[in-house]
Amino acid sequence: MVHHWIGGTNTRSETGDRFTTVSPAHDATVGDYALGTASDIDRAVRAARVAFDAGPWPRMSGQERASILNATADLIDTHNDDLARLETLESGKPITQAKAEMNAAADLWRYAATLARHTCGEAYNSLGENKLGLVLREPAGVVGMITPWNFPLLIISQKLPFALSVGCTAVIKPSELTPGTTLQLAGLAHDAGVPKGVINVVTGLGASVGSRLSEHPDVDVISFTGSTAVGRQVAAAAGRNLKRCSLELGGKNPHIIFADADLDAALDPVVFGVYFNMGECCNSGSRLLLDERIAQEFTERVIELARTIPVGDPLDPATKVGAIINIPQLEKIKRYVSNGTTCGSRLRLGGHSIPTPTGRFFEPTVFDGVTPEMAIAREEIFGPVLSILTFKTKEETIQIANDTLYGLSAGLWTANVDTAFEVSRNIRAGTIWINCFMDGYPELPFGGYGDSGLGRELGRFSTDEFTELKTVQLHIGGHTGSWL
Ligand code: NDP
Repeated sequence: MVHHWIGGTNTRSETGDRFTTVSPAHDATVGDYALGTASDIDRAVRAARVAFDAGPWPRMSGQERASILNATADLIDTHNDDLARLETLESGKPITQAKAEMNAAADLWRYAATLARHTCGEAYNSLGENKLGLVLREPAGVVGMITPWNFPLLIISQKLPFALSVGCTAVIKPSELTPGTTLQLAGLAHDAGVPKGVINVVTGLGASVGSRLSEHPDVDVISFTGSTAVGRQVAAAAGRNLKRCSLELGGKNPHIIFADADLDAALDPVVFGVYFNMGECCNSGSRLLLDERIAQEFTERVIELARTIPVGDPLDPATKVGAIINIPQLEKIKRYVSNGTTCGSRLRLGGHSIPTPTGRFFEPTVFDGVTPEMAIAREEIFGPVLSILTFKTKEETIQIANDTLYGLSAGLWTANVDTAFEVSRNIRAGTIWINCFMDGYPELPFGGYGDSGLGRELGRFSTDEFTELKTVQLHIGGHTGSWL
């Protein structure tokens, strides 16, 4: 059994209760974990508080923190195979993809290491002859991190090393479905030199463990990734204690193809964009907006390519689409497909779960004839389901693209630079890809407008979430003049 990680050591849950994780592809038990309680969170927050208020981590030089973050990245690389296998077994994602995610996670730790040496404030030498103003950037304190099941190690690596880089400490609540790699990461970071109490992981349910973390008075910042509905609850709980809160939530992202685009180049990214990670991806390009002049031809090509996607055992290196995370998620996908078939759109490919001896798999699915008011055009399905809409003009596609509560990302393909920039400027989304889709770099900020969230992760501004500004004003030389 794997226990919580509190104060740099494996720690039993107060009650001794436990829960298991199950492979979505094989129905086999993968992990046996401590079922946390609110009081386990309280212990973890105390450990993080002591490590912040009295420990060495916030007081180390940026150089020292950077070298430990880099050493953690090296250990992630060394353990790539083990981490990727565990990630695949708990999440159902293809093993080749999981390995690439472990590489990307290590890269995030290395990038965050550079911020440990570069995050800084400002100096004002312009306030007058006798005055100097300093704006110091200080670590914000204890950060509570709540993460989902779709990219477990990658998403915690979008938060944790960035918070650590500036000297914060952390309490993490991973998804109950996929806690394995986060617990392993905490052990690797410890081996790399992260002091006791700086990283704490409590496993268990969102309703008990997650909600206690969100409302805990001794937590200074909450960083959440998951559904918009739970994000609202987390923000409300954080608001009651006036703690800062950043939210990475869902998306219903438009992927737009203009008639002048290089259609050969766009085809594979369109298919990748929607079926990657079984469509269980906040960035999924699940709304395909086609210029009606090329719509029929391009739809046929998308269907033909989607038909060839290898779906199956995620441990097979040839697999591109693995298993759906659990039965409730599979049922949700089926409900949307059923809705799509009755609302006037046309089911052109897939639409069914795939019968297998174990696990739960769903066919890559395509609907065309979708219109903007339909649920399959507006709501996040989080499954391998593509909705195809058409447009006549640039203005119409901008209007359709923005006709959603979400605003996470968007892609567009065109040979015309004016079209590319006009559309990019007018779509309300945190990331726009032009003639590419779902590329990501640690240097570039990521986050959403509207119901897709609050705040930005990655890039050099990411440390804003984890720092406080302190103004220090200095008088130089003798004093002249007085109030009275
Ligand atoms: P949730 O938002 O329910 O879960 C995300 C994390 O929040 C998990 O660790 C979860 O715990 C925790 N949590 C749940 N309830 C609370 C609470 N009241 N207070 C604090 N934390 C809580 O996502 P799901 O995993 O249930 O997925 C449901 C839907 O969310 C998906 O269908 C998809 O639409 C969306 N989603 C979006 C993601 C994104 O990256 N934008 C990622 C994952 C999901 P627990 O482990 O118990 O679930």
